[in-house]
Amino acid sequence: MEDFSTYYLCMSANTPSDAASKPFGTVFGDVMALAEFDGSAWSEPRMVGTSELVLHPGTHALHYGSSCFEGLKAHRQPDGSVATFRAHRHAERMFGSAERLMLPPPPVALFERMVADTVAANADITPDAPGSLYLRPTIIGTEQNIGAAARASNTAMFYVLASPVGQYFAGGSLRLAVETKLPRTTPQFGMVKTGANYAMALSVLAEAKDRYNADQVLFAPDGYVEETGAANFLVLADNTIITPPLSDGYLHGVTRDTILTLAESLGFSVEERPLSVSELLALAAEPTTEIVLSGTAAIVAPVGTLISEGAEHRVGGTDTGTQTQKIRDLVTQMQQGIAERPTGW
Ligand SMILES: *Cc1c(COP(=O)(O)O)cnc(C)c1O
Repeated sequence: MEDFSTYYLCMSANTPSDAASKPFGTVFGDVMALAEFDGSAWSEPRMVGTSELVLHPGTHALHYGSSCFEGLKAHRQPDGSVATFRAHRHAERMFGSAERLMLPPPPVALFERMVADTVAANADITPDAPGSLYLRPTIIGTEQNIGAAARASNTAMFYVLASPVGQYFAGGSLRLAVETKLPRTTPQFGMVKTGANYAMALSVLAEAKDRYNADQVLFAPDGYVEETGAANFLVLADNTIITPPLSDGYLHGVTRDTILTLAESLGFSVEERPLSVSELLALAAEPTTEIVLSGTAAIVAPVGTLISEGAEHRVGGTDTGTQTQKIRDLVTQMQQGIAERPTGW
């Protein structure tokens, strides 16, 4: 491994205002935590400069897709400190993703420590609310061996990249194309947060953009709603949240779990049950219905139009309606330390 400390010394400093003016994901913190797995154990994590990684062209992850990631945020608190939101849950999910990809799963404590170290080192470039520090823990298989197609990489690297972000949600509502024939991913990778799933959805999304000017594709294999390429799907129907039950087929969003956990205190009842496209279109036609995508980046993003078999269906309560707003407000207040959070969050 290269010594990154020289990069650290010569990096130019970011400022919190960079985050507000540049697109999500294009501004990075100067330092990140990094650990390596040598075939038997994880090294002690260390802080390195955020700079080019030196990877052999035969690196396993580059050929055989041995990589997975997480996405979580840290927010400035009223006392000026910066705190992560539900890091433990993200640590558990990454453990599962790595296991499924046959990468060495990072112990939850190692994940939490490296996230905390990265947050502390980037605290001074973390924007104030509504901005935050987005964290991207990433594991890649690093074995240099293109003959290892049929087995796991025996070495790996784990790093926690930081990205200061401004207000992610710009307003407006999304156009979703409903896809009933092609799946988003395979049964064995549905719950895994891995780049391969995004690559698989890419051409489907590109075609939906082309044909329907869609922003996202809602995957509904065999006519039952699952999720979009990068977010979970919830219908807010007159103070009832309807969302598909957890299955191996789709990513178990932490934001989805946060919303369902808080639902009762916000006056919602919850129905986790299969949702067919035909029922969805009927619900969408109701004037009080709101539909949202949930994910760490935007918490909830309103859906304004569903495009099914070429026909456009406007969703009843377009743009950010009152139900969507009350969810966003409470989650945001908990993240920013204004509202009290459940223990362990
Ligand atoms: C990350 C991700 C989500 C959202 O998960 P959160 O934990 O809420 O951010 C949903 N679907 C897919 C496919 C994802 O990769």
